[in-house]
Amino acid sequence: MARVFNFSAGPAVLPEEVLQQARDEMLDWHGSGTSVMEMSHRGKEFISIAEQAEADLRELMNIPSNYKVLFLQGGASAQFAMVPMNLLRGKSSADYLHTGEWSKKAIGEAKKYGKANLAGSSEGSRFTNVPLQSELKLDPNAAYVHYTPNETIGGVEYPYVPATGNVPLVADMSSTILSRPIDVTKFGLIYAGAQKNIGPSGLTVVIVRDDLLGQTVAGTPSMFDYKIHADNGSMYNTPPTYAWYIAGLVFAMLKRKGGLQAMAALNERKARKLYDYIDASGGYYKNPVAVSCRSWMNVPFTLKSETLDEPFLKGAKAAGLVQLKGHRSVGGMRASIYNAMPEAGIDALIAYMKDFMQKNG
Ligand SMILES: *Cc1c(COP(=O)(O)O)cnc(C)c1O
Repeated sequence: MARVFNFSAGPAVLPEEVLQQARDEMLDWHGSGTSVMEMSHRGKEFISIAEQAEADLRELMNIPSNYKVLFLQGGASAQFAMVPMNLLRGKSSADYLHTGEWSKKAIGEAKKYGKANLAGSSEGSRFTNVPLQSELKLDPNAAYVHYTPNETIGGVEYPYVPATGNVPLVADMSSTILSRPIDVTKFGLIYAGAQKNIGPSGLTVVIVRDDLLGQTVAGTPSMFDYKIHADNGSMYNTPPTYAWYIAGLVFAMLKRKGGLQAMAALNERKARKLYDYIDASGGYYKNPVAVSCRSWMNVPFTLKSETLDEPFLKGAKAAGLVQLKGHRSVGGMRASIYNAMPEAGIDALIAYMKDFMQKNG
């Protein structure tokens, strides 16, 4: 059976060579006689898998030694609560930047624990851009500043990292982590659900500066305390072992392919091709996002008329291009083109879009 090009926003496409390796190792991992799924998380085999994954991620992202890397569960959505529970540290408010659906959810959750001060918003442009650094109303006494570098649903990405002085910067990188090199030292905490650009769902990666740990709000459950996870090597309880293993295979593969610099060059080229085609379609296809804030990872677009949506999706599926339907809150189409989407997938999508326009012009 042939594999399709899967443009799902998440769980998303995984690199074919990783899936093949997982298949080859499925029944007997490295002569252990067991599948990784069946291993004790405290056994030496799994510990070696876990440690290698962390080492490779540290190397890929150049993560300094004063940052902990945690492999947790609960998705990015659990982080919406864990961040205020752990990082308020006796302060009453945190700054939040509002740029779409995911930052809105983070804000909603933060309000349960303290004041979520709206320090910047692009609601005025209906979330088709992001606030400029000069427009941010940052509170120097805020516990932290939270933002969403890439809004997965709107396809809006910050072209800059907000400067927040001494206030720790917190980023929900679920849909942009590993898409390019970043300077981790600019952040107090980075989190990402794995199912967009890392591996399978069920795993959440958290990268946190160690001086921010250990000051949780009263009543914080152990499972929501970063320090407890950090002190236990993310094995306070049974971690999502198989997802951790697959993430490790992805990290190793990214290293083989030249790391995040190589990913950035590829991702920029893939995204530019698709946006260039959309912009050159004479309004048949449209992307609403300000050019400087267009996401490399999620490309929403509409067709000339909504009545074309169904036939477009049907024809796409027949051509082996799946999961192009836009998020229910925005409609239209969305092509998610994470690291694992090969450039051939972009070429096939553009060829299909051209053909569809010709036949339905
Ligand atoms: C998908 C996504 C989430 C939600 O992730 P879950 O793992 O389902 O909780 C949060 N933030 C962003 C930016 C996302 O893309």
